[in-house]
Amino acid sequence: EFGTDFLKLGTDQLKDLYQELQEKYNEFKSQNLKLDMSRGKPCPEQLELSMEMLDILKSDEQIIAIDGADCRNYGGVDGILEAKELFAQILGVSTKEIILGGNSSLNMMFDTLSRAMLFGVRKGEMPWGKLPKVKFLCPSPGYDRHFAICELLNIEMITIDMNHDGPDMDTIEMLVREDDSIKGIWCVPKYSNPDGTTYSDEIVDRLSCMKTKARDFRIFWDDAYTVHHLTDTPDQLKNILAACKTAGYPNRVYMFSSTSKITFPGSGVAMLATSEENVNSIKKQLGIQTIGPDKINQLRHVRFLQSLDNLNVHMKKQAAIIKPKFDLVLHHLEVDLGGKNIAVWSKPNGGYFISLNTLDGCAKEVVNMAAQIGVTLTNAGATYPYGKDPRDRNIRIAPTFPSIHELKLAINVLCVCVQLISIKKILGGSIR
Ligand code: PMP
Repeated sequence: EFGTDFLKLGTDQLKDLYQELQEKYNEFKSQNLKLDMSRGKPCPEQLELSMEMLDILKSDEQIIAIDGADCRNYGGVDGILEAKELFAQILGVSTKEIILGGNSSLNMMFDTLSRAMLFGVRKGEMPWGKLPKVKFLCPSPGYDRHFAICELLNIEMITIDMNHDGPDMDTIEMLVREDDSIKGIWCVPKYSNPDGTTYSDEIVDRLSCMKTKARDFRIFWDDAYTVHHLTDTPDQLKNILAACKTAGYPNRVYMFSSTSKITFPGSGVAMLATSEENVNSIKKQLGIQTIGPDKINQLRHVRFLQSLDNLNVHMKKQAAIIKPKFDLVLHHLEVDLGGKNIAVWSKPNGGYFISLNTLDGCAKEVVNMAAQIGVTLTNAGATYPYGKDPRDRNIRIAPTFPSIHELKLAINVLCVCVQLISIKKILGGSIR
């Protein structure tokens, strides 16, 4: 029966298969597994690639940036020039259009949205927090931590479907044209979390030029995986800041990224790129928040990564470690679930995730069933606003952290659980 369409199997065949799979499940259970495929973390081997960065600054060397700033001291609220020069290239902006922060871009996103709530983002418009209602568009499945920020700040989230080339623009354009309480949208435009989707040029253009009823509408463009390719033919993403300028809305977009998955997630450099006008008003407020970021870490990063070309070489080493893990997961999904008409999954060219869609109404049960025998997956629903997947079908697989051996076990367990729950679903109440 393996490889044949489950929806075409008879009840008896499905029941036999269920029995067989249940035995496999019990076998795994007896192994007392403790495996975690839940978060997109680099594995220790990936972190090793950047260890030399720690030896780069010596106590007998001058810790001076090219603009003369003593990196040990206070100052330079937007980061050191050589780091801006390097990281501006990643996002395709000028050094006047970028602010470097501390170790976390998520933190910069939170601060940016918090400042919008407190002070607004445009002269003459109300602080968002003073309005009776603020709404954000949330292409989904998406990044759970974006949604958590909205939930905490009491911003109402509107779920937008993701298509193969980006979010459903027809719906977005219709909504923003009519509702001025819609102030923004979350986007992970390249190798999206979790689908691995890269927005097409058309989607980037439509986002940049769409008419919004809110004059202070903002795109939160989280380009976290912009240099994180898994193939030699990387996806290309159109430059949205340039597109917004062309469209006459230069201040519409905040772009974010970080070196979290280039060097060290706990100790990287975060970046925010936007129009010069936005940079200048953010810098004024940022100067109240802090006297400046960790410039020593920025200097270390530039001296280690050196240039965009060298950074790309470094990313190839990252890919060499994690690509086999993606391939392993994809291979097992194909072998165990292929042709059975019970699941579809993404085959990403980059990023950190594989997104698996089960039959409707199965994801929660699959994740619970795997958890019961020691395999931790991201909570079902986490990839949707309020943790509610309307079709209860999306499971996010994060293959980078486990070892190949652990991954093989974990994906086997997952595939057994998907099949068991699918059969249960297909047969309705007639199975225990
Ligand atoms: N954005 C996305 C889409 C992510 O997947 C992650 C990490 N999982 C982050 C941001 C976090 O970035 P940082 O470490 O810079 O806070």
